[in-house]
Amino acid sequence: MTVAVLAVQGAFIEHEKMLQNMGIDTVELRQKEDLNQHFDGIVLPGGESTVQGKLLKELGMFDSLKQRIQSGMPVLATCAGLILLAEELSNDEKRYFQTLPVTVKRNAYGRQLGSFHYEGQMQGPLQNLGTYPMEFIRAPYIAEVAPEVEILAEVEEKIVAVRYKNQLAMAFHPELSGDDRIHREFVRMIG
Ligand code: GLN
Repeated sequence: MTVAVLAVQGAFIEHEKMLQNMGIDTVELRQKEDLNQHFDGIVLPGGESTVQGKLLKELGMFDSLKQRIQSGMPVLATCAGLILLAEELSNDEKRYFQTLPVTVKRNAYGRQLGSFHYEGQMQGPLQNLGTYPMEFIRAPYIAEVAPEVEILAEVEEKIVAVRYKNQLAMAFHPELSGDDRIHREFVRMIG
């Protein structure tokens, strides 16, 4: 099994390390030609969604990635990655893949809570994971979800993790937690 990690900007190395430590092969998506390699799943890392979105379009990778996500390839999206997937953004004009029927609010925690740690409870289909260490860095939250979206975690009444079909997306950074159980769920989704 090979997982492709979007590597144009942001915290992609941490995802690669976590997957490699689990024995999973990774490839980096840095330019259009990288999409010709074989891979079975995609990681969209944290970082700056505006920069990532712009680069994806400029590098000619956007349409092909969107098509793969739409046709069911498993995707793990964290923070900026969640913003790239969202159908709607409540406080930004831009839109990116729009494959995930949720409304996301960018930089939703204000300046004072720029970054924080929370021992959150996983729920729904990931309830069996129990408590999970959640690192938030200038994080978005999910303000609204379509009925068919499964809620995986809420922090102070805000939705911070969801699953919809092949898309697993969260506002926090599981790759920085030292706890690989969310990546393991993703690998299970790839099957
Ligand atoms: N604030 C970033 C954005 O809006 C997301 C932050 C992150 O990925 N850690 O794109």
